[in-house]
Amino acid sequence: MRQWCGREQWRLSQVQAAITAAMKDESEGPDRDYWTTGASRDEIKAKYGLKKYKPKPVTVTLVRECCGKCFTHVLKSRESAKHLTDYKCRDAECRGRTTVMPFGKYAWLTVALVYEKDPSYVAWFHDTVDGCDEVKEAIRGLPGIETHLTAFRQKQRLSPKQLTPTQQEVEWLMGKFSSETVDKVCEELFGEEG
Ligand SMILES: [Zn+2]
Repeated sequence: MRQWCGREQWRLSQVQAAITAAMKDESEGPDRDYWTTGASRDEIKAKYGLKKYKPKPVTVTLVRECCGKCFTHVLKSRESAKHLTDYKCRDAECRGRTTVMPFGKYAWLTVALVYEKDPSYVAWFHDTVDGCDEVKEAIRGLPGIETHLTAFRQKQRLSPKQLTPTQQEVEWLMGKFSSETVDKVCEELFGEEG
């Protein structure tokens, strides 16, 4: 859960695209060279016959791919573009679209996609799997999930054996089988006397 409070680094390609967009009206000169080509400050000084060169800061607008939210940053050098971060998206729908199932038959598919295909699996995952708080948080943000969670819990009460086969379920079933053995033993011991 804590991860959602953290920060997320922008990809260099995203930052570069934002710089290119910010510089599109910039006329040719040292600043355009600096921000849009890989030229070093020394190369720029040589090219324009400058004694000193300090790049003009550029204001970039970065757009979050998941929901289109915009962030503005003022870059003072190309180095500062390398580790640009903003807080992670907290939008519930975005989490569903960006968080992936960590294992099982839908491993690496996004929570939202799995929810679309197999909502009862998502409900099962939420209530059965240990840990995976980030995934569970994303699941809780899915629209209408409450209905599926309630349905799953009801089904669990009526017939707890109906589960989807995954890693965790196998473990669960193994526990189940051993308890069945215990039941059988009990039945053998006490059942007839009833
Ligand atoms: Zn978002």
